[in-house]
This record gives sequence, C-alpha cells and structure tokens, in this order.
Amino acid sequence: MNTPIDENLAGVRRRIAQSAQSNGRAGESVHLLAVTKMVDAEGIRCAFNLGQACFGENYLQEALIKMATLRDLPIEWHFIGRLQSNKTRAVAESFAWVHGVERIKIAERLAMQRPNHLPPLNVCLQYNVSGETSKAGVDSDALVTLADAVAALPSLRLRGLMALPAPHAAFAEQCAALRPVRLALEKLRAKGHVLDTLSMGTSDDLEAAIAEGATMVRVGSAIFGART
Ligand SMILES: *Cc1c(COP(=O)(O)O)cnc(C)c1O
Repeated sequence: MNTPIDENLAGVRRRIAQSAQSNGRAGESVHLLAVTKMVDAEGIRCAFNLGQACFGENYLQEALIKMATLRDLPIEWHFIGRLQSNKTRAVAESFAWVHGVERIKIAERLAMQRPNHLPPLNVCLQYNVSGETSKAGVDSDALVTLADAVAALPSLRLRGLMALPAPHAAFAEQCAALRPVRLALEKLRAKGHVLDTLSMGTSDDLEAAIAEGATMVRVGSAIFGART
C-alpha cells in the first residue's frame, strides 16, 4: 500500500530528523503531533497504522465524533483549538493535552473538571508572539503570573508553551518570530518551573521551529494534504 499519507508522513519524519541533526539535536527530542482538523477518521486510522500515536484537534464537536469512531485505538489526543469556558468539561474528560491555555479561569475549570481516574491533564500556555494571526495568547508580562497560577492547580501538569506566529516565507523571519517563545520558556525555567515542552512549528515552519528549540511540532497539511 502506498497512500499519499504514507509518503507524506515519511517526508515529514525525514524533515524533522534532518533539521534536528543539523541543529545538533537528537531526533527523539522533537515529537510530531499530527493535526487532523477536517481529516476524517479513516485518515487518522491510516496515520496511526503508520506509527503515529498523537493527534491534535481544533474543534471539539468534530473531535468527539472522530474519537468515538476510533475508540479502539490507543490514541493520545491533544486539543489545540480556541477553548471557550463552556467546552472545558468535554476537553477535560476526553483529551490528554491542551495546548493554548491563556486564561486562569479556563485552567481552573479544566482542573476542577478533570476526572479523578485520569492522569493529570498536560497543559501548554499560549504565548502571544507579536503579529500572531489569532491574536491569542498571553504576553510576556502576564506569562509568569499565569504560569505560577496554573502550576499550582491540582489535576493539571504545566508542560510548557505553545505559539502560532503569523506566517513568514523566509527562514530567518520564521526563526525571529519563534525565538521569543524559546526565551519565554527559559525565563519560566529560571523562575523554577520544570517545563519540557515547546509546542511550535507547522507544515511551513517546522525547520525554523526545531532550530529555535521546538520539542513538539504540530503538522497537518504536509501529512494529510491541503484543507479545502
Ligand atoms: C491547523 C493548525 C496546525 C497545523 O497547520 P498545518 O499548516 O496544517 O501544518 C498547527 N497548529 C494549530 C494551532 C493549528 O490550528
């Protein structure tokens, strides 16, 4: 069998391995999160059968339907979309990770609603790099306060930062947009937070993200094709 997903996934893995190597990093230090918004359950199953175990979804209703279809597979689900407070319960019950927490109120709800029988919910705070497309995330002034508050909540495990900068074509500009996220993570570490995750880099800028220290790249279209 030689599906496009098969070739695409191999290509993305090669890109990750090559840029890790050229930055003197171990290939295993960069995890691949396959982003599957608008990808059907069939496509996810195909990628899973090729060894991909972590998947990221943006839209709760869409994700829950696919999760039900795929419940026979031990997939690690990551919520990477905008999270409104009326959606926190379902996210706390169904996902292993939430990228993009930007308000303490959301984190408190997730902590309260995380079922006791599940391990702590892994959380990344969304960092607002200037010019960020979505305008989401916290700036560097608010970041330390938010990190302190989130780290103190039970049932959550603060893992690091995520960012989604506005797209740039040139590698140097991509790096420049992502560098503040790495610096922000270092600042939190210097304040005593034990953090292991820098969630940044997509199909278009994963090489720059790896050069700037990404430990998790979130890749959709390069694996599953352009979204229509
Ligand atoms: C869609 C999306 C991605 C993946 O983008 P691609 O260009 O498809 O690789 C990564 N992160 C977030 C938050 C997204 O919404």
